[in-house]
Amino acid sequence: MRQQRLLNPTLRDVPGDAEAASHRLMLRAGLIRQLSSGIYSYLPLGLKALQHIQTIVREEMDRAGAQEMLMPALHPAELWKASGRWDVYGPELMRLEDRHGREFALGATHEEVITTLVKDEIHSYKKLPVTLYQIQTKYRDERRPRFGLLRGREFLMKDAYSFDRSKSGLDASYQAMYDAYVNIFTRCGLQFRAVEADSGAIGGTDTHEFMALAEVGEDTIVHCPACQYAANMEKAVGRISNELASPSDVATTLQPTKIHTPGVTSIKQLSQFLHMDTKQMIKSLAVLADGKPVIVLVRGDLEINEIKLNHVLGVQEVTMLSEADITAIGSVAGFIGPIGLTNVTLIADTSIQGLRNAVIGANEADYHLQHVDVSRDLGDITYVDVRNVGLGESCIHCGHELAFAKGIEVGHVFKLGTTYSESLGATFSDENGLSEPMIMGCYGIGVSRVLAAVIEQHHDEKGIIWPAAIAPYSVHLLTVQVGDEAQMALSEEIYHTLTRAGFSVLWDDREERPGVKFNDADLLGFPLRLTVGKKTSERIVECKERHNGDLYEMNVEQLLAHCQ
Ligand code: ATP
Ligand code: MG
Ligand code: MG
Ligand code: MG
Repeated sequence: MRQQRLLNPTLRDVPGDAEAASHRLMLRAGLIRQLSSGIYSYLPLGLKALQHIQTIVREEMDRAGAQEMLMPALHPAELWKASGRWDVYGPELMRLEDRHGREFALGATHEEVITTLVKDEIHSYKKLPVTLYQIQTKYRDERRPRFGLLRGREFLMKDAYSFDRSKSGLDASYQAMYDAYVNIFTRCGLQFRAVEADSGAIGGTDTHEFMALAEVGEDTIVHCPACQYAANMEKAVGRISNELASPSDVATTLQPTKIHTPGVTSIKQLSQFLHMDTKQMIKSLAVLADGKPVIVLVRGDLEINEIKLNHVLGVQEVTMLSEADITAIGSVAGFIGPIGLTNVTLIADTSIQGLRNAVIGANEADYHLQHVDVSRDLGDITYVDVRNVGLGESCIHCGHELAFAKGIEVGHVFKLGTTYSESLGATFSDENGLSEPMIMGCYGIGVSRVLAAVIEQHHDEKGIIWPAAIAPYSVHLLTVQVGDEAQMALSEEIYHTLTRAGFSVLWDDREERPGVKFNDADLLGFPLRLTVGKKTSERIVECKERHNGDLYEMNVEQLLAHCQ
């Protein structure tokens, strides 16, 4: 490809709200452009990189025995009503009506569609197991679309679904997908961890998330440097989710895993210590509430406009009160009384002086204890002092101290069981003619999110440093003086030779100053830059490797061998 004709609008500056490095670089390098919040166009170079990821995904899915298909993005509401998710999926599901007033959803995920299809087409155990996948655009009306492709409202996902006749069959299908994911993320050049995850409200059993390690990641990983243990934060603290962990499970998860939080005296500090955002932390702390309503008392500088966090947390009733609220109310009892909560858990900053007075009285000494039952004063209230909260300091498996890291969820594998096959009637008949529900698994990869995660992990201050497998082009050929006939002739020769040998080459034949070209080459970040300039008469080009900056000269005759 000749760069002269390429749609590649590079930028020196990017909008200030582009916080993530990958977002900034994708805008600067002319890979993507935003159409609307969380909705992007892929320009030619961005699309090429995305396609390379898709190719890797396809190769590994096919190798694992999965079959590619393509399903519609427009789903009749009846399907989502039949599974019960029309009501529970919430505002993230994009909904619309056709001209006849019939309701539809834009696919956020495809369990309903695939299960209905398989229900209609597969009836016998002889056709099982089967794993089907697609690479398709998904729609989710995210509450906070951000970080460019990392959290979009329209994004590309590979989603796969397995159908088995037995639990052991599901185990095998799950393992095949898990292994394929390891291969995919390795080939994409990602540093990642597979972590145990929380199966939440869907009611499955095993589930793992694949986390690309990056500071910008919105997830917190708890891992053990000494053994294989790795989990996401929710799992690590044994988040109470309706069906899953009972309060006693939570207690046993927490008991052996206390963490020291030296010098930490506020919720905010604790969240910094744990590398979590405050909301995520409060969510984890809510675990200690044994399913009771939770009241979180916070300093005035938190996002008090979200006084009702129920919606955010989803799991249980959580109310946030600011210091100012407490002062206004006079006492927590004064707040609880009117709304009729008699059995609540308080999570609080003991650094809030007003709180101390309000909850337990300034003179009561034992508020340092982790759970202080102050039922005498306020009814049945559990009080959690953040200074003593334990979130898992030593690993359950080996006793080693746990470490925390930030991750981007690039993939998710999930044993669904029979939830969808039962609600949508996907059954098969076994050898004896008995009807059984199919046992399902689902497996997602955020293909467009992977692209951003790769850049998040592979860049420097000058630009992107593509891993060879993903790079839009592998060679960037740069002609210093396009007005110089000899330089152009040599460049053309190199371009054709390399292209014919199967290399993808972008030839910078633009009439730009050399400085501009060199900067753009660093920004675009292809693995090898070849410069045709001063030593054209000796048939010598300059080579520069983007990943380590190595610079050397080479005779054109040696070049082809070198590239191979
Ligand atoms: P998250 O926790 O980041 O919201 P999720 O758990 O809701 O993701 P899944 O339902 O597990 O996502 O979807 C499968 C994969 O799709 C995720 O592992 C992630 O890689 C990708 N994905 C999910 N939401 C988005 C999004 N808004 N933008 C880009 N990729 C996404
Ligand atoms: Mg989500
Ligand atoms: Mg998730
Ligand atoms: Mg997920």
